[in-house]
Amino acid sequence: MKTHSVDIDLVEMSLDVIKYAISRITETDPRLGFPVSEKDLKRKVGETITPSGIGGEKAFQIFQDILVKASVSIDHPRHLAFVPAAPTRAAVMFDLVTAASNVHGAFWLEGAGCIFAENQAMEWLVSLTGLPETATGVFTSGGTAANLSAITVAREYWRRDKPEKERGILIAARTAHSSIQTMAKVIDADVISVETEREFTGKDLARTLTGLPGSERRRVFAVIATAGTTNAGIVDELDTIAEICERESLWMHVDAAYGGGALSSEILREQFQGIERSDSITIDPHKWLFAPYDCGAVIYRNPELARQTHMQEGSYLDIISDEGADGFNPADYQIQLTRRTRGLPLWFSLAMYGTERYRISVERGVELAGIAASKIEKSDYLELVHGPSLSIVIFRRKGWTSTDYNEWTYRNHREGIALVAPTKWRNGSEKETVARFCFINPDTTEEDIELILESMA
Ligand SMILES: *Cc1c(COP(=O)(O)O)cnc(C)c1O
Repeated sequence: MKTHSVDIDLVEMSLDVIKYAISRITETDPRLGFPVSEKDLKRKVGETITPSGIGGEKAFQIFQDILVKASVSIDHPRHLAFVPAAPTRAAVMFDLVTAASNVHGAFWLEGAGCIFAENQAMEWLVSLTGLPETATGVFTSGGTAANLSAITVAREYWRRDKPEKERGILIAARTAHSSIQTMAKVIDADVISVETEREFTGKDLARTLTGLPGSERRRVFAVIATAGTTNAGIVDELDTIAEICERESLWMHVDAAYGGGALSSEILREQFQGIERSDSITIDPHKWLFAPYDCGAVIYRNPELARQTHMQEGSYLDIISDEGADGFNPADYQIQLTRRTRGLPLWFSLAMYGTERYRISVERGVELAGIAASKIEKSDYLELVHGPSLSIVIFRRKGWTSTDYNEWTYRNHREGIALVAPTKWRNGSEKETVARFCFINPDTTEEDIELILESMA
């Protein structure tokens, strides 16, 4: 068999693959999955990469029997750790179609139709933010890539007519996502981390700016507000931050990687007042908009600034910007050149279900957080620590040490009951280990919550 030949074995293999996909997509109570050590995996799997190959049948069997079982099903209804994900079945199905279609999503010349569909989904996202209609964005590999793409634009814009290329400074709250620090390393910027326990406000920002010596104030080019902190679901005070950014001519970036999905609900949208005044926004559809991994989005108030920053030049790329190939090139608006049209699964899912059903499923996450919080308050061995805030609840098991929380996490995971991980909560200068729920999956039930809370009794 040659690498590209189509024969009966290949056809049979495709049927097996599709059969597996159908059964996984229609599963309502997937296996939770538990990591296995590399040593054990090596023992069970053996060598798979050999000069003559082990055959598709065998490799697929190994995948089904060993590999996928040693990986967590992120859509399990009792996976409430980190920021879980629960792609719609339509979106997962369409990920298969996207893969089978082999579309190059960097340039209109190659991907026009699929990029057009991505852009329709993007238009809806942009409309939720309240940015002007001239704003647009592109789908990225995730929030980290979206944040990096946006902040690079901010930095380039700030340095546009500065002869010496000084290091810039970013201001973000301590509660901002860890990827902000990573991104600052990549672009070689400094980060001023503002100490807050609750939401980051315009007042905090103004105070931070006033406290800076002139030599540093001069280097501040952007402020990052978080709309839905990853740990606690806190939405920073976007309106007052926007106020200061406008007054001080600073780029305002809103990281709504987790929280952005909540914009689809008019009721929840109220907490995001001011997001429409930002210069750029990150939203991860692979979090609260039910897209499969990996799908992030970066949105710009002024897309032309992004194009000036990210457009790549090369003689082999000249044809791309030729008039004959005129159209929207996603490669011009973020750090990646070759990309799959990763917004397509989201597009199909939105088109199939409609935005109204999205709203209902997003609001269910918030409702579940409310249900969990009231069960915690009624319990005599639990205490609410923070929230519910968006779809996150932080709570304490009275009398537990951090070892107790860790053991509880492992026990539940090992037994296939749930994956719920502890987190830290600051109490003044003290850091306390506590438990945390993050609800994304509308399939999670009240009974699921009870089962997990009972496992702490
Ligand atoms: C998850 C998250 C990120 C990182 O996004 P990835 O998709 O994991 O790269 C950034 N910011 C916030 C607020 C997040 O919740």
